[in-house]
Amino acid sequence: MLFGRHTKNPIKIADKGVTDWKYTTCGYCSTGCSIEVGLNAQGKAVAARGVGDASVNQGKLCIKGIFEHELFNSANRGSTPLMRDKPIDAYVPVSWDAALDRTAAEFKRIQEKYGRDSVAIVSTGQILTEEFYTLGKLTRGVIGTNNYDGNTTLCMASAVSGYKRSFGSDGPPGCYEDFDHTECLIAFGSNLPEQHPIIYWRLKMALEKRKFPVIVVDPRVTMFAQMADIHLPVKPGTDLVLLNSLAHVILKEGFADRAYIEAHTSGYDEFSALVAQYDPVTAARICGIDEDTIRHVARLYAKAGAAMSIWTMGINQSTHGSDGVAAINNLNLITGNIGKPGGTSLSITGQCNAMGTREWSSCSGLPGYRALEKEKDRETIAKFWGVNPEFFPKQRGMFMTDIFPAIETGQIKALWLVATNPLTSMPNTPRIRKTLQKLEFMVVQDAYADVETTQYANVYLPAALWGEKEGVFTNTERRVNLVRKVMAPHGDAKADLWIFNELAKRYEQGRKMNFPPTPAGVFEEMRALSKGRMLDYSGMDHDKIEAQRGIQWPCTEGAEKGNPRLYTDGVFQHADGKAKLLAMPFIDNNEKPSEDYPFWLNSGRVVEHFHTRTRTGKIGNVNKFSPTPYMEMNPDAAARLNIPHMSYARLISRRGDAVVMVQHTQRVPPDMVFIPFHFHECVNRLTLGLLDPYSRQPAFKQCSVKIEPAPNQQAAAAANVAARSF
Ligand code: SF4
Repeated sequence: MLFGRHTKNPIKIADKGVTDWKYTTCGYCSTGCSIEVGLNAQGKAVAARGVGDASVNQGKLCIKGIFEHELFNSANRGSTPLMRDKPIDAYVPVSWDAALDRTAAEFKRIQEKYGRDSVAIVSTGQILTEEFYTLGKLTRGVIGTNNYDGNTTLCMASAVSGYKRSFGSDGPPGCYEDFDHTECLIAFGSNLPEQHPIIYWRLKMALEKRKFPVIVVDPRVTMFAQMADIHLPVKPGTDLVLLNSLAHVILKEGFADRAYIEAHTSGYDEFSALVAQYDPVTAARICGIDEDTIRHVARLYAKAGAAMSIWTMGINQSTHGSDGVAAINNLNLITGNIGKPGGTSLSITGQCNAMGTREWSSCSGLPGYRALEKEKDRETIAKFWGVNPEFFPKQRGMFMTDIFPAIETGQIKALWLVATNPLTSMPNTPRIRKTLQKLEFMVVQDAYADVETTQYANVYLPAALWGEKEGVFTNTERRVNLVRKVMAPHGDAKADLWIFNELAKRYEQGRKMNFPPTPAGVFEEMRALSKGRMLDYSGMDHDKIEAQRGIQWPCTEGAEKGNPRLYTDGVFQHADGKAKLLAMPFIDNNEKPSEDYPFWLNSGRVVEHFHTRTRTGKIGNVNKFSPTPYMEMNPDAAARLNIPHMSYARLISRRGDAVVMVQHTQRVPPDMVFIPFHFHECVNRLTLGLLDPYSRQPAFKQCSVKIEPAPNQQAAAAANVAARSF
């Protein structure tokens, strides 16, 4: 008997006329999929496909990757530098020399007048690691401002901070292969199918071969929660209470791995005294998960031979994000689940090269996970770069989220934004809009000339897209993968590496230092500086990375392959070699629903879009599936307020308001609404964004709003459609 396709017409795939496939790595999320871009005979990018022998994605791509080749010809790419005296003037196209001369001259003028730290630099998780390293060298070794950070403070800072506090260093200890070995998985605040579809597919493949329990902790019934064995709809912002209570049960019922705790951790006494206060009865009243379920999940996790935790923004974007991460680490330390197959604390990173900036950009310190606070690290890097070690600050400066208030109060007068878009991504964007108007000088460096921040800039520098240059990205599982240059940059756009090097030449100190002009040359410096360190790159080079479709650090000199896991020997990066069990009380400081503002406002991602839509908003095949800002609202709450399905509603917070289309769904409880964060002038007009005290990451997901119907908007939208149909 014939089944399936044998009895039907075969599927015909349109011949796109591809004559050459070029290897590269996807430039959107941190999954790190190996991708090939197909070029036709005229050299135009016409197709993209996953690379079959790449262990990360095994031939698959999500919708963003499938249409990534369309970026090369997308609308509003910057093709020439632009300049103007004041942000109210019109931009004028200028030469690269003119734009860079003005940038250097303004930075010098402002630093001479107001001090070195009056210039701030905010970069990204999107550029290549060699570019991050070079920007760090330029910032720390030449320009000399300490107010330098990346937009990763909005997404990964709590994970970094939590790893450092628990293990003594940043660096996710696990890998995707852990799905194939684990016996229990808890996902905290992670909607994996939409955020990281290919990692989710890896999990589903593992589950097809061998069933193990999947537990999803999320206030919303996400796509991931719908497939989970157990969904814990925790009250917003109370994950630390749940985690302390899980630890309470594990210790009290004798399921902890005592041998591991004694051999490899410190701080047990203080930690156990703290979690003793979080009995499930008390915890249930705060976090909303009943006491029996807390006990059941704790037993399930602790009794598994190997158990792992993954998390994303639901943990990180919180006033206690760093504590939440450290509490997940606590859970895995007391159960002996670090550094073994299937047992790990794996933060799923956001941007394609958020890891690269953490490792090499010098934002939070010096390259190669070195610290400004350590004299030896300052001296090593100063000698390597040819800089006086006294030129370096002795502790890190402001985080991104502190830089904007410092502009408001006049401490910072100039801002250089590299591939980041705070007018959409920061909380309370009405305040950011006012803040940017206070600057004396602002530079925006981006692949797109219409990125919202150009409204307030004096100089716009057009940058090449990911596939228009060469270098490496590091993904969530510490895999360094190669981005090959698929085609020349658009118009007169330049690789970020070229821009940084050219700016360095405009400083006397920069001319004295060596700024390698090629990515391979920069990579050699990184290799040398990594040798013998935890993030050892010394066994890698660009060709070897491509041949293996990515190599996980550490990969020591002469080693054929990298290492999938960290801390396999139980030795951590704190001075005593032990991991710290941290005692962390829950502090309830969120803005919460009240009589005047009765709804929790939650935000997150949709699969079609990436971050602020600078790119995906331009790709028809992606944007058409999610073109409009919308709000998920429980039908009972909507009925009470007389807000029909697919009508418009206005949300009002203490910061501002926003109008969105309403979708009725049971995915959110009656006291909560959810809005995707990708859209300009939308959810972040409302958010408060209180900061985590360690990571300075904003609590995007916990604030309160009131909601009212917006019938006028509906009439306006209808009139707009009618007008367009004539
Ligand atoms: Fe790219 Fe991430 Fe999609 Fe993979 S999952 S194709 S890395 S956006």
